[in-house]
Amino acid sequence: MTNANQNVLELDNIKMYFPIKSPFLKRTVGYVKAVDDISLSIRKGETLGIVGESGCGKSTLGRVIMRIYNPTSGEIRINGEDITRAKGQELKKVRKQCQMVFQDPFASLNPTMRVGEIVSEPLWVNKIMDKKGAESKAKELFERVGLRESDFYKFPHEFSGGQKQRVGIARALALNPNLIIADEAVSALDVSIQAQILNLLNELKAEYHLAYMFITHNLAVVKHISDRIGVMYLGHLVELADKKEIFDHPLHPYTEALLSAVPVVDKRKRRERIILSGDTPNPAKPPSGCPFSNRCPKCMEICKTAAPKKMVLENGHQVACHLYQ
Ligand code: SF4
Repeated sequence: MTNANQNVLELDNIKMYFPIKSPFLKRTVGYVKAVDDISLSIRKGETLGIVGESGCGKSTLGRVIMRIYNPTSGEIRINGEDITRAKGQELKKVRKQCQMVFQDPFASLNPTMRVGEIVSEPLWVNKIMDKKGAESKAKELFERVGLRESDFYKFPHEFSGGQKQRVGIARALALNPNLIIADEAVSALDVSIQAQILNLLNELKAEYHLAYMFITHNLAVVKHISDRIGVMYLGHLVELADKKEIFDHPLHPYTEALLSAVPVVDKRKRRERIILSGDTPNPAKPPSGCPFSNRCPKCMEICKTAAPKKMVLENGHQVACHLYQ
């Protein structure tokens, strides 16, 4: 069993509901439940992949952890410290421990700054070192992420997508964080470049004792990088288990459907393709009962009225589905 103090991140019952306002009276007429009652943890040195279709709430979850959004309820702990309502200096401290690498390296880099400044700035702004020290530390990071020293003085538009993502990674590493949240960090890149960036992230994990939350819609990517995998659907964490367990023994019908769509070279390991009917429901009007009930090929009567509770099996495999209750 994992000791709680080995967890770099712990989430307890996190909810992130966005109010829907009526256009005239500005009254709250409903909520988009982007993240609904999610509890999980990430151990030091572990990579937790979070997978799900677009709009399932996985990126919102990353932003809640970074406190870009304030959760509606629940508790977030980083290294055992409750940071759910942290403000000011306390929040700055959180942001040093926890950094984010975004999907679009183009949009996340200030086009008017030289990339060397982009990477060194957090070090002197946070008074960790003076400008000269920050520059030399940033050059070290450049070398480590596979950029040249001459790249230091270039502007973001002079780089390819993969190089920009390397700059984004160097910037995330500058403050020596414990946890990096990578939100679709390789989705905008060519497949060959994706593999290079994933390998780099794996090397850095061991070298800098990092933990990652790796958010993606791509199961092949999540398989390559994760130790454990959480599957999200309509704001809910419907399944969570070790990578091998998820790929070899998926329990939730939604996970089974996702896996059935992954191309497999070995004919013997191919799964029967499960085509889901209908679209993902509007998160402002989720189905009653199980959130997956209107698309689930195994839906039973109880699924339409009662939401399934999370079950934890002996091997730690978690699933929220009436089939196992
Ligand atoms: Fe399908 Fe019912 Fe399980 Fe939901 S609870 S995933 S509807 S079988």
